[in-house]
Amino acid sequence: MINSLLGAGNALLTVSSQFIHQHPKRITAVIAALLLSGGGGAFAVASFAPDASELPVRELLEPVQALPIVVPADLDLQALRLFRSEITRTSDTADTLLKRLGVDDAAAAAFLRSDATARQVLIGRGGRNVTAETSERNGLLKLSARWNSDTDGKFNRLVLEKTAQGFVSRVESAALTATSHLASGTIQSSLFAATDDARIPDNIATQMAEIFAGDIDFHRSLRKGDRFSVVYETLEGDGEPLRTGRVLSAEFVNNGKTFQAMWFQDPAPGATVTASSAGTANAGSKGGYYTLDGQSLRRAFLASPMEFSRVTSGFKMRMHPILKVLRAHQGVDYGAPTGTAVRSVGDGVVDFAGVQNGYGNVIILQHRNNYKTVYAHLSRINVRKGESVSQSQNIGAVGATGWATGPHLHFEYRINGVYTDPQNIARENVTTPLSDSAKPVFARLAAENRVALASAASMQTGSTQ
Ligand SMILES: [Zn+2]
Repeated sequence: MINSLLGAGNALLTVSSQFIHQHPKRITAVIAALLLSGGGGAFAVASFAPDASELPVRELLEPVQALPIVVPADLDLQALRLFRSEITRTSDTADTLLKRLGVDDAAAAAFLRSDATARQVLIGRGGRNVTAETSERNGLLKLSARWNSDTDGKFNRLVLEKTAQGFVSRVESAALTATSHLASGTIQSSLFAATDDARIPDNIATQMAEIFAGDIDFHRSLRKGDRFSVVYETLEGDGEPLRTGRVLSAEFVNNGKTFQAMWFQDPAPGATVTASSAGTANAGSKGGYYTLDGQSLRRAFLASPMEFSRVTSGFKMRMHPILKVLRAHQGVDYGAPTGTAVRSVGDGVVDFAGVQNGYGNVIILQHRNNYKTVYAHLSRINVRKGESVSQSQNIGAVGATGWATGPHLHFEYRINGVYTDPQNIARENVTTPLSDSAKPVFARLAAENRVALASAASMQTGSTQ
């Protein structure tokens, strides 16, 4: 896919260069879309496609042979077909669903009531998009619905069709198509408010926070005016988005400092790139996130002991509940509801798991180089002393045990027993160098992602002007 993508990209850049001067924003958006679509689906992306009427138009005058107009003798002028889509509701019966779809057809209703396949897919099941194709007189000709399959990379499609022998139904399996989307936003109140505004799925917002978790603590460090741009995939069946895919590249400007990342899969055999949590295609070989100049973004420590989510994002950093000051307090408190998952920020071994005076239920992890991390006031402990834990492993849950006036996680970072500002915790890189053979491919992909991210950012500039 990379080769065809690069080939198409180069050709487009050449052909389009003369237009870029006149219409830089729109054109880069189009090019970026083409570059990242991998040869298919880009035109289905409605969220950023420029209005066709606003695109530069160039008239081409070439003589063409007129085709004779042939009206087929058997053209049935009555065969007008109407299409209508609806979302199923859990309360639906065959009749209410068909009624909303504009179908008035007793035989179709009888079939839908009795056919086991169609019933199982459509009745008593909310949230599925159903399309009906009807005759002019509202008779059902065809009905179809799509949903996620358990098989990776596939979706299921129900087709119910009118035949000469009456209605028949079948369930088919087909390949999902990945489509790229560009989006951008500015933080006014929270990351999720900004991603909601930009109509970015929650899963993509969380992925972005995780990708930059080594550099930005999304719980504590977001500023009003921070900006982001993101290129991500959705997986579609027959053009209908059915699943959120992976972030392909992203840029985050936090407090004036710009961070960029791009997904890359080193094709070299034996390359030890770490996989992200967001698997889509390419099962088998692994990939990871890199800066656009080829540095791995995998870190020895995550910046935050809680995954950034819609639940945890709404809670601000707290003053110490007992001491009421931040300065005298050797740690960071994360306010979050009791039960919120707490994760290990790095690989290590459990040094302590149990109750200690003010800490309540507490876990202390020993990492390499005499680094320790402390997770206190827990409502639940999931690990035992001596156990090995890996980065991101769920080790317990937020609580209010010990000296705590409300549920929160107290987190500490110690080097050789000395409390250290956790802001510094994530600076250490795990070096995963790119293989030499991957470098040229990486460089070209990085160049394309720069164009795409710049384009996503300019869309926002355009919309706020
Ligand atoms: Zn505390």
